[in-house]
Amino acid sequence: MDHYFTKQTNFYGNTHPHELIEQYGSPLYVYNESILRQRCKEMANFIPYPNYIANYSTKANANLELLKIIREEGLHADAMSPGEIYVLLAAGFKPEEIFYICNNVSIEEMMYAVNLGITVSVDSLSQLETFGQHNPGGNVAVRINPGFGIGHHENVVTGGKKTKFGINDDCIEEIKSILKKYKLNLVGINQHIGSLFMEGEPYIQSVRTLLDIASKFEGLRFIDMGGGFGIPYKKQNDEKPLELESFGQQLAEILHDWSARYNPDIQFMSEPGRYVVAECGVLLGTVHAKKENGGIQYIGTDLGFNVLVRPVMYDAWHDIEIYPSNSKNENLDWETVTIVGNICESGDFIAYQRLLPPISIGDVIGVMDAGAYGYSMASNYNNRLRPAEVLIQEDGSHRLIRYRDTLEDLLRPFPSKK
Ligand SMILES: *Cc1c(COP(=O)(O)O)cnc(C)c1O
Repeated sequence: MDHYFTKQTNFYGNTHPHELIEQYGSPLYVYNESILRQRCKEMANFIPYPNYIANYSTKANANLELLKIIREEGLHADAMSPGEIYVLLAAGFKPEEIFYICNNVSIEEMMYAVNLGITVSVDSLSQLETFGQHNPGGNVAVRINPGFGIGHHENVVTGGKKTKFGINDDCIEEIKSILKKYKLNLVGINQHIGSLFMEGEPYIQSVRTLLDIASKFEGLRFIDMGGGFGIPYKKQNDEKPLELESFGQQLAEILHDWSARYNPDIQFMSEPGRYVVAECGVLLGTVHAKKENGGIQYIGTDLGFNVLVRPVMYDAWHDIEIYPSNSKNENLDWETVTIVGNICESGDFIAYQRLLPPISIGDVIGVMDAGAYGYSMASNYNNRLRPAEVLIQEDGSHRLIRYRDTLEDLLRPFPSKK
């Protein structure tokens, strides 16, 4: 039903979407601190195993204030780039709490992490060579491709034959010989098979495979099982969350078995991104136009794909809530509409053919579960300004946690600007 999620969670605290838009502008990313902390706790306690840690995958959402909260909740972090490392350090993460999982990086980017004392995972034999040449005798991790993957869209399947990620499990001898050649210590192995699974089975399967591989190496300090934990994007259709309890129990048993046999001091890690931040974020936008074309009712908003690209990029579904600007006749029929943005491309849509309450110009649209891969994938395409971000705090009050871009920001990169 309409407003189901934000009512149930008291998402907006002491304020209302219209007030927020008035104060901070439209569009606007809004985050709820209580939901964020809750999801952090769920991931931190996911596996009942003493030496387990959840590394938050920064690329899902790199807002500095959200990162500080995630750190307070005891998570460590994964970084994919020097930029993410830089922001994580600013948020208070210590180098030993950061794991740099890089893919096809330059020597400079590798050394940026090494020089800070951050553990680096390399993702090909050639990058392992590069690492060895520049850090002989150093500590390193390798990303393994366990031979299969999962995901909600082929672009997010990151294990298996058809992806660019990881070192194949049939290259163990090559890994060992490069390690030997440069006297490297292999401190960990990691994997990440894909994003947005709603059942634990494939993940458990991939962990078994990874553990088999791990038993072929000696002296490992950690084994990192990857992320990809899904969230129910179709809550209005009663989609259920990932069942974490029995999932975590099953993993705990497998991990206890393995560590008892091979290495009682091993640390296990996971890499949740989406699960931690998706549901604490709602994207608000404003309806500016309506039209009918070819039998489709278009609702024209300021929610272009520069603000939220997931629907266009992955055909992703986000539940929609409507916050009317004026009270409406309750008896009006719901309509099937397509919500589009203001970017000059036909594929620019947020929600395709949805049955929704009647929508008028001036209404505010809420796009649910927009906290992951929302702002972090936002751009200035069409020279549009990226929105502000606001946090609804645990006491119900709100505060700005990122400025909206300004027109001047669009000139900032140009050397000729005086
Ligand atoms: C993106 C990514 C993650 C997080 O994926 P989610 O689906 O957001 O949990 C974890 N590990 C690696 C290596 C990634 O690239």
